[in-house]
Amino acid sequence: MDKVEGFLEVGCNEQDEIVVNHPDLKPDENGAGHIVFSPNQARTFARLLTKHANEVEANASRKAEKARMEAAASIPVDRSARVLTDGSPVTDDHTELLSSGQQKGYVVLTPEERSKGFVRPVRRTYRHKTCNTTTSMGLALAETYARDPEFYSGTFCVHCATHLPLNEFVWDGTDEQVGT
Ligand SMILES: [Zn+2]
Repeated sequence: MDKVEGFLEVGCNEQDEIVVNHPDLKPDENGAGHIVFSPNQARTFARLLTKHANEVEANASRKAEKARMEAAASIPVDRSARVLTDGSPVTDDHTELLSSGQQKGYVVLTPEERSKGFVRPVRRTYRHKTCNTTTSMGLALAETYARDPEFYSGTFCVHCATHLPLNEFVWDGTDEQVGT
């Protein structure tokens, strides 16, 4: 017999069936409450238990994330707390374009401002709906979106090699528009 936290016992009987004992079940002639499963039923039951356990955990983690995001939303964002992605001060020439079409530098919220909490999940990859290509960005940019979804007005597409308005982009794997 294996015991689950002292109240549920799992074993087998002489008919090669799986037996679960629980004090709440209707007792047999020996005074032990139990349910009997065939091996197949026991495997199906185990799969169902695992499935439900996963669902319950996923639900609990969604609720916890929602609570964290609501708490973060109650702290106003200080948009003046800005640096470039490498942590250096914002320069006047950071919007100059490189041959790739990307800017010389990108403004993000400071690590301290980002650490006050995210109002959206941190997502690194978005899809340009027009060309259906995904582009991934660095963590500082992704965290800035998560802290302040409306911080930016446009973003870069690696395929189109240019910056375009956010309403042309969705977070990869979702229909959720970037910047909302
Ligand atoms: Zn594109």
